Amino acid sequence: STIRDTAKVIVLTGASSGIGEATARHLAWQGHHLYIGARRWDRLTALRDELRAEGGHVEAMVLDVTRQEDLQTIVTQARATHGRVDVLINNAGVMPLSPLAALKIEEWNRTLDVNVRGVLHGIAAVLPVMQAQGHGHIVNIASVGARQVWQSSAVYCASKFAVRAISDGLRQETDAIRVTLVSPGVVESELADHITDDTARAAMREFRRIALPPHAVAQAIAYAIAQPDSVDVSELIVRSTASP
Ligand code: NDP
Repeated sequence: STIRDTAKVIVLTGASSGIGEATARHLAWQGHHLYIGARRWDRLTALRDELRAEGGHVEAMVLDVTRQEDLQTIVTQARATHGRVDVLINNAGVMPLSPLAALKIEEWNRTLDVNVRGVLHGIAAVLPVMQAQGHGHIVNIASVGARQVWQSSAVYCASKFAVRAISDGLRQETDAIRVTLVSPGVVESELADHITDDTARAAMREFRRIALPPHAVAQAIAYAIAQPDSVDVSELIVRSTASP
């Protein structure tokens, strides 16, 4: 038809706080059909109920991106209801910064599991669906740390470099699917709360003075999504004017 429904079916991971929560608010307000996931059910349902009260179309699901079957389930549910999945936003991430010499091996593994394997699990869940329907959009949240490495952030930056590489590779392999990498600078969120290394935590506290509000990143994501099917917004770098 000539009049297209502009409401999209969107799966969003890591929606229980920070950038994901702000993105859920923004996209729900725009009228899209949202499927939001994260591990904290109380936070997800509170957000879902709030957005529904304002007229938003929101379904919530507990999911852990390190479990591929969880991504499969949320994508299957979205498709069962709407017959399609237009957008996947791989936003869930962790950032337990520390110098390599601290040997926080469990934290290295978790960073790679969530930030890299989590993104791949999402891609695996939507790629066949999007290829079959002949369109789709995968938005991966990287970081300015996908292009530059700082102290105490080798593993985190490695995970984000990987997300950038995966996004580039995916874009080259798929003509019908749009791929967007969103690379924020420091954003006000809960991301740094889980840093166990004292020096790294203190350094991040300093950075917070120049943090962007999460809504700024939500708007960048929404901009990429709003473009026509033939337009690929490949990368958006969004940072505070006060950042170095
Ligand atoms: P938050 O810590 O506020 O949000 C992270 C989200 O990811 C939460 O909703 C959390 O939910 C979810 N999450 C973490 N682990 C998992 C998991 N295993 N499975 C499912 N969900 C998970 O941080 P941000 O909003 O800042 O982070 C969002 C993204 O933005 C991340 O990818 C981060 O790397 C990136 N980013 C952030 C920047 C910043 O300065 N804040 C800068 C650049 C990039 P739950 O705990 O309920 O599972």
